Amino acid sequence: MSKATPKRTWFADSTPPGERAWHDLVISESVAGRDITIPVYVWKGKEPGPIVSVTAAVHGDEINGTGTIRSIITDPPFELQRGTLVMVPVVNILGFELHSRYLPDRRDLNRSFPGSASGSLASRLAHSFFNQLTKHCDYGIDLHTAAVRRTNFPNVRADLSIPELHSFARAFGTELVIDGKGPKGSLRSAATKEGCLTVILEAGEVWKVESSIVEYSIRGITNCLRYLKMLEGKPTLPAYRLETDAATWVRASVGGFLEFHVGPGDIVHEDDAIATSWNLGGEEVETIRAPRDGIILGMTTIPSVAPGDPVVHLTFPKKGSISRIERLVDNLDDESLHERTRGDLSRSFVVTEHDDQEE
Ligand SMILES: [Zn+2]
Repeated sequence: MSKATPKRTWFADSTPPGERAWHDLVISESVAGRDITIPVYVWKGKEPGPIVSVTAAVHGDEINGTGTIRSIITDPPFELQRGTLVMVPVVNILGFELHSRYLPDRRDLNRSFPGSASGSLASRLAHSFFNQLTKHCDYGIDLHTAAVRRTNFPNVRADLSIPELHSFARAFGTELVIDGKGPKGSLRSAATKEGCLTVILEAGEVWKVESSIVEYSIRGITNCLRYLKMLEGKPTLPAYRLETDAATWVRASVGGFLEFHVGPGDIVHEDDAIATSWNLGGEEVETIRAPRDGIILGMTTIPSVAPGDPVVHLTFPKKGSISRIERLVDNLDDESLHERTRGDLSRSFVVTEHDDQEE
């Protein structure tokens, strides 16, 4: 499944088959005129095969992927047989240093690909990374989290109109697969256009390495490598699979302080209470309700909201009902990764049952 065209030489060539090595990739220069490098881990199977990149912290504050890569390197969950795995724990090293999504010039690196050699700092950095690494890869897995003040139930996003990328995205094994080309300038859209078929994982929160998210991510990466026959075995299947491009934000209509009734990954029905909003005097000011049946893809982690603030991101099938998904989830073991993740992600805020009797 690797590219038919002959490979150009690149830095990973110096790592022999069956071995692993760190490389320092020079991607920019500091104000003091010194090289700015990022560490890249190259792991080669004994036999030839596809070249897959796993990237993290393209947004410098989204470090669940950084923790995932560290875990794969320090405690390998598999033995790579074929192909090359290229792992980049931090792409946006300048944002990472500042615990920030953005680069010091306030640009978003993930809107700057494929970049240009004569553009802004962000554009040059993107260009340097893209040419030295991305262009040499056949597949990409880019690890992200929700933006600040939000969390996401793990979901993979990819352009499902490309059959080979569709299969790769499914192989990852998240329940939720969101169809779309990705924003202009994102690593995944530029990489895919260049022939490096790339998915992103959106999972968890910024500034954290969350245990169930790391587990989800490692399972997904393992599944993708199995799918590409870089490892023995078949990808594991998700609890259910919803592939859709349909999602809507449910917003607060008045200012208030929220008591949540749902958590990430929960299934809701039309009119179910999502959150009760209180004023600071303890009076109920609003019950925020689900506009339709769906699954909580992401939600705010801050209970204080102004009118128009997003509360939950609700995804739903383009056609048909969610009753089959609901039956599958009802039968899941509490110890399944899906259920543990659902529990873990809602543990950091108060979630109560809504009492409809009071109304
Ligand atoms: Zn991101």
